[in-house]
Amino acid sequence: MAYAYSADIYCDDCAEKLITELDANRVIDSGDSDDYPQFDSSSGESDYPQHCADCQVFLENPLTDDGREYVIDTLVKDLARGELGPCVNEWLEYYDLDYEREPYFERFDICEAYYLFASHYHGGQNSTEYRIFGRLDRMRFKARDLSYARLSENGRAIYLNLASQSVARLARATRTAA
Ligand SMILES: [Zn+2]
Repeated sequence: MAYAYSADIYCDDCAEKLITELDANRVIDSGDSDDYPQFDSSSGESDYPQHCADCQVFLENPLTDDGREYVIDTLVKDLARGELGPCVNEWLEYYDLDYEREPYFERFDICEAYYLFASHYHGGQNSTEYRIFGRLDRMRFKARDLSYARLSENGRAIYLNLASQSVARLARATRTAA
């Protein structure tokens, strides 16, 4: 649940602080979110994962199809950069991005998805992911100019499954280390 105020969204705690301030300044609740925080009970779906405009806490809003695409796009871009942004883990833990489809066994899709995943995600030549290259090489798989957008739908599902497993492992490792 959240509050809308002056074109932003706030968590309950931050909205309460705003309301206290506004009340102290004798601002009247006009019923319009331009003037005064309005409780949003719609729990409406959004095209983005929403965060409080003040404290940045994740508001756990439901997502539209575009919103799900947005989360997946962000994940893929972050993986390609080799660095996960601060929000992605939180989103992945909250949203069940099982990508609506179960990957099925198709050798070519698997090779492409694994190759792309390994190039995005390997943690150096001694990592498990890096060994994927060796395995693919032995299978005489030749990678074309690969990108997430060029994978088949099945290939994308395989890629995202691999990615989300690794991201979850990474999140656990980070928590244990902290
Ligand atoms: Zn907040």
